[in-house]
Amino acid sequence: MTKTTRVALVTGASRGIGKAIALGLAARGFDLVLNDIAAQTDTLSATAAEARSHGGRVITLQADVSNKAQVQAMVEAAVAQMGSIHAVVNNAGILRASDVEHCPEDYWDSVMDVNAKGTFLVVQAVLPVMKAQNYGRICNISSIGGKHGAPEQAHYSASKAAVMGFTRVLAQEVGPFGITANCICPGIILTDMGRVNLDDPSISNAWKAKTAMARIGDPEDVAGPVAFFCSDDSAFVTGQTLNVDGGIVLS
Ligand code: NDP
Repeated sequence: MTKTTRVALVTGASRGIGKAIALGLAARGFDLVLNDIAAQTDTLSATAAEARSHGGRVITLQADVSNKAQVQAMVEAAVAQMGSIHAVVNNAGILRASDVEHCPEDYWDSVMDVNAKGTFLVVQAVLPVMKAQNYGRICNISSIGGKHGAPEQAHYSASKAAVMGFTRVLAQEVGPFGITANCICPGIILTDMGRVNLDDPSISNAWKAKTAMARIGDPEDVAGPVAFFCSDDSAFVTGQTLNVDGGIVLS
């Protein structure tokens, strides 16, 4: 898809959807900066090694995306080591389930901090780099939970709706600089986070019944659509939200 070698930063890349996105981009010829919150974990190193098998350059950088100083240092290190950042995938996210009545304040704060503020901080840090080169691709991982949601996920839903609103305005601000900004809304995907919805067979079967494709998603299902938003093929697509859910939300 991409003719010149581009550098993509993927947050939360050690496992789950972030890992699949990283490997999908590596397979399509991207060089990679892989981020995770834990310092040089075995899992992030393993993802990096797998990505390198596609032949590109891959580095790993630890940072908590909700910490402005750490994000700034990560972006500076990425540019110093890789030369630039052409694409960013804001994938890092957390889910802490609770109903609204009993939701501890720190559940609200931590979920908003990582999912919403983390996306903002990473975008804010990379924008000067992208503007200077008059090119950028920003792909923010939201969720169908930000559109419909489910009980015990009101704060998560709020954080993912925030990502969609943020992206729509961001697209308008950065478009003149050759930068696109789009959202992916995964559906029910089999990861450590997704297992919250899937461990109980009755819940898992109910989700399958609500899904046109009649199956639970794999992390790899998300990688292709993200790669499209990171590529030159999506040069005139911005401010959009794409459901990657096998047909749960039909809009
Ligand atoms: P996982 O919990 O499997 O993986 C999350 C990743 O994000 C981990 O690598 C984790 O690191 C990292 N991470 C968490 N907090 C931070 C932080 N503060 N800074 C940097 N990295 C961090 O989640 P999924 O792969 O399932 O989810 C990926 C994204 O997709 C999330 O944004 C999620 O909300 C979204 N999503 C997932 C769906 C699903 O069904 N799975 C559905 C819809 C959206 P570590 O390994 O160190 O904990």
